[in-house]
Amino acid sequence: MQKIVTKNPEETFELGKHIGKRLQKGDIVCLVGDLGAGKTAFSKGIGEGLEVVDYITSPTYTIINEYHGRLPLYHFDVYRLNDTEEMEELGYEEYFFGDGVVVVEWADLIKDIIPDNAIWVTINRTMIEDEREIEIKVS
Ligand code: ADP
Ligand code: MG
Repeated sequence: MQKIVTKNPEETFELGKHIGKRLQKGDIVCLVGDLGAGKTAFSKGIGEGLEVVDYITSPTYTIINEYHGRLPLYHFDVYRLNDTEEMEELGYEEYFFGDGVVVVEWADLIKDIIPDNAIWVTINRTMIEDEREIEIKVS
């Protein structure tokens, strides 16, 4: 387990980028943290690390956005899902066990279907406004 403190959104982006550079086919990154914690900021960094050229936006309303980089990037935001059955309807297995990298915002809401060996990234606010404590571990 690793704990890192970032002092602004750029540092969170850079941490995401650092990890994105090292991701391999089949990797699943699970992001946990409140609204505004920095999950999307971190995801944008992952995209940069994966050499995605398109601008990454939050897929809150679409549940999933797909990008093309060094590897395909499947960016989920499951905040608005009512249950994991909706993930089945989306055909999530094609993405989770596919040819790319998966990033899931609010992954704790669907933890039943997250495979072992996923990379869990938990982002918490601290007492200082633009500071975040980021914990990274493999399940
Ligand atoms: P989430 O996807 O978790 O809801 P976002 O990444 O969309 O969160 O938004 C995070 C917000 O917090 C942004 O407005 C960003 O500018 C702000 N912020 C402040 N400090 C940080 C930090 N250290 N890391 C990430 N975001 C930060
Ligand atoms: Mg978000």
